[in-house]
Amino acid sequence: MSERLPVVVIVGGGFGGLAAAKALNSTPADVVLIDRTNHHLFQPLLYQVATSVLTPGQIGSPLRGILRNQKNTTVLLGEVTGVDKNEKCVLVSDADRVNVPVHYDYLILATGATHSYFGHDDFRKSAPGLKGLADAVAIRNKILGAFEQAEAEEDPSRHRDLLTFVLVGAGPTGVEMAGAIATLVRNTVRSEFRRIDPSLARIVLIDHSPRVLGTFSEGLSSAAKDRLAALGVEVLLGRNVEHVDRAGVIVDGERILSNTVIWTAGVAPSPVARWLNAESDHGGRVRVQSDLTVPGHPEIFVVGDTASLDQDGKPLAGVAQVAMQQGRYASRLIARRITGKRAPRPFRYFDKGTMAVVGKGFAVLQSGRVHISGIVAWLAWAAVHIQFLGQSNLRVSVFLQWVWTYLSGQRGSWLIVNHHGPELVRTPEAPDLVHADK
Ligand SMILES: Cc1cc2nc3c(=O)[nH]c(=O)nc-3n(C[C@H](O)[C@H](O)[C@H](O)COP(=O)(O)OP(=O)(O)OC[C@H]3O[C@@H](n4cnc5c(N)ncnc54)[C@H](O)[C@@H]3O)c2cc1C
Repeated sequence: MSERLPVVVIVGGGFGGLAAAKALNSTPADVVLIDRTNHHLFQPLLYQVATSVLTPGQIGSPLRGILRNQKNTTVLLGEVTGVDKNEKCVLVSDADRVNVPVHYDYLILATGATHSYFGHDDFRKSAPGLKGLADAVAIRNKILGAFEQAEAEEDPSRHRDLLTFVLVGAGPTGVEMAGAIATLVRNTVRSEFRRIDPSLARIVLIDHSPRVLGTFSEGLSSAAKDRLAALGVEVLLGRNVEHVDRAGVIVDGERILSNTVIWTAGVAPSPVARWLNAESDHGGRVRVQSDLTVPGHPEIFVVGDTASLDQDGKPLAGVAQVAMQQGRYASRLIARRITGKRAPRPFRYFDKGTMAVVGKGFAVLQSGRVHISGIVAWLAWAAVHIQFLGQSNLRVSVFLQWVWTYLSGQRGSWLIVNHHGPELVRTPEAPDLVHADK
């Protein structure tokens, strides 16, 4: 009888988990990749789905398709609910089974992060966050619905409130969303709507910190702020969002009426620290050792947004490159253990730089000593994002869509997709819900 191959279970098919799975391609192991969704999602372009530039299918790739030629890898659709470290199994629930144990010899946990409302979970209902495709489609419905409501409204004095878009959080997601909504208002709305005056639309970006894009240099941060101002975005910095409800937000005591509030502020890690009963940092991310394992468990690795590791005295950021490099490292270490080779050196992140887009044809780019803003940074941003998309058909389709949108100003997907019958709508002055079709 042939000897059983070691089983490597990877939880999460995002940037970290997928990179880990691919790196085990030629390792003599049975690899099991478990995800609660059936696709790998390119989160950096989610804001373009939310603002109608791209369709969901252009930034999500089915995991089964990506790994179809990797014969040692099985993809399972299921929600992991816990880890039994003693029995070496993860507990998986799916459509008709609960907490089914899946055995592992090595485990890589790459379950990412979700939104954090900083203890105000009641804000969630009125201010959706952007994390998955369903969020992006829900936000797109909200934004497009606001334009439709304004067009249908005969009283122009109400247009300004209906067309007020508030973004809470001026990190990369907030800045990119604000720039994209500004472009949407100034281009598409101008040509396709008759009653709406685009100059009435208000886009408000709020943050409690004194700068936009706080992780970028001061120069780039101020270039991004100037660009937002040129696009007509009101940037409120050093201001506290005290309350969010169906009528809008309250900022330092001042009410801003808005139908469309979007939460682009904090992130919270997945519950891996609780599953493992492991030490975590103040944000709840699992503290891992320099080989990305959990102390006392050389067979359990945690990578990406849900792991906490310091490098040169600073915590590594929750970005795609960190997750991918960590996923690959964990797999390399596992492959070396399985094949009896020496372990690699401790993990070290190689920072290739960060970028953010601020409206059409403008980005900021920071890579080592190179700090640039403008069209060149935007071209670099476009090239890098195309290159990192999961599959070649998506690269072609996104590239063509961008060229078309850039030249014509037209959107890829101006669709309000309502999965549950007539939408319920409300107005800032009359926040009681009414049926849209009444
Ligand atoms: C809107 C947005 C924009 C971003 N823009 C950028 C950018 O421009 N550049 C950049 O570098 N980074 C960006 N990031 C951050 C980047 O996407 C993350 O750092 C990266 O995705 C982290 O990779 P990960 O593997 O840790 O988690 P993820 O990529 O989030 O993957 C986690 C996976 O785990 C699955 N999962 C979670 N819980 C379970 C469970 N219990 N059971 C089964 N499966 C589960 C999820 O379905 C998901 O597929 C952005 C993030 C967002 C939300």
